[in-house]
Amino acid sequence: MRRVSILGATGSVGTSTLDLIEREPDAFEVVALTANCDVGRLAAAARRVRAKLAVVADETCLPALREALAGSGVEAAGGARAVCEAARMDADWTMAAIVGTAGLKPALAALEGGGTVALANKESLVSAGEVVTREVARHGATLLPVDSEHNAIFQCFESDNADQVSRIILTASGGPFRERSLDEMRGITPEQAVAHPNWSMGAKISVDSATLMNKGLELIEAFHLFPVAPEQLDVIVHRQSVIHSMVEYADGSVLAQLGSPDMRVPIAHALAWPRRMATPCQRLDLTRIGRLDFEAPDHARFPCLRLAREALAAGGARPAVLNAANEVAVAAFLARRIGFLEIAAIVADTLERYDPAAPATLDQVLAIDAEARNIAGERVKDCVA
Ligand code: NDP
Repeated sequence: MRRVSILGATGSVGTSTLDLIEREPDAFEVVALTANCDVGRLAAAARRVRAKLAVVADETCLPALREALAGSGVEAAGGARAVCEAARMDADWTMAAIVGTAGLKPALAALEGGGTVALANKESLVSAGEVVTREVARHGATLLPVDSEHNAIFQCFESDNADQVSRIILTASGGPFRERSLDEMRGITPEQAVAHPNWSMGAKISVDSATLMNKGLELIEAFHLFPVAPEQLDVIVHRQSVIHSMVEYADGSVLAQLGSPDMRVPIAHALAWPRRMATPCQRLDLTRIGRLDFEAPDHARFPCLRLAREALAAGGARPAVLNAANEVAVAAFLARRIGFLEIAAIVADTLERYDPAAPATLDQVLAIDAEARNIAGERVKDCVA
């Protein structure tokens, strides 16, 4: 029996993780499930898998959670601190799938026990990469990448030959607006932006995919997960999302991982690692797919990718500022307060206005994150005015 916890259990990644766990009830014992405030989904999942504890980060939702769990034997708790306490419980394996920087402290709390943390929450590595990797080493924990690209790289990366890796090539679907002109992108609605052609995901990452900021965040994520220099990280647009990423070696060999675009494949890899487990995912039928296409990303129409690459090259606090400004801008876009193209403009402006020294501690990262959010928030108000 493997003892597992899921942080962000009501989201897209969390739900896919539960789906796999529920298919093998004898293999997993569920310790804790957390959400922000989706009480209905959280309580139903906690009852089904007989979790020990269910936690809502938003404390105002705790009375409803208590009511929904009455008589189930599942304990209920509320508040951001309770989420971290749940993450510290003695699970062998924790899925870190809270969206945004809100997932940083819970992910760090999960690492404290020295177990395995499957990381979907890329924003925590983008804003606090050095802090997170230092904590992994300090606690002797194992960090497994769940993002499909990084999981693919993990499967292709020969650690014993790390010095012979010449390039990591991240594939990008190009998002729903791959072929739209800048002018056509101006009037894009949140509904259009979250309708990803290949993947079914939460709203924030879907918008990030549409702006290509997601690929930019992934460049920074890859830099922290694998021992390569920023110049060794490339992005290629591959619209079918069949090849999930590639690793090129000094001898010219390129290793790729392929699969259907279903997050349950990389999640299952992390869940069973170092073994493999069965999934119900559609098998890859290459003759039906017929062809695989590749093209270079267009930085003029998708400036977020360029901004992220510049932040990675500059290092220090730049990725944290980029990430925080992007979270604020995406939330404002989803709330229909700003237009699609203003997301990149707000991120660029925030980076221009705020250039703090490199953070060395978690508190410094959080202070930079908060200040970048203030500045980006002011810019949102300017756009709305
Ligand atoms: P969703 O929006 O679908 O789910 C987010 C989860 O986080 C929900 O459980 C939500 O709870 C919870 N949550 C939101 N805000 C808070 C908060 N302040 N405190 C605690 N919990 C909170 O996101 P996804 O599942 O799509 O993505 C999760 C992470 O995984 C992101 O970092 C994303 O970039 C990454 N990822 C996602 C992929 C995907 O296919 N979806 C692929 C690769 C990476 P509630 O439901 O109550 O709001």
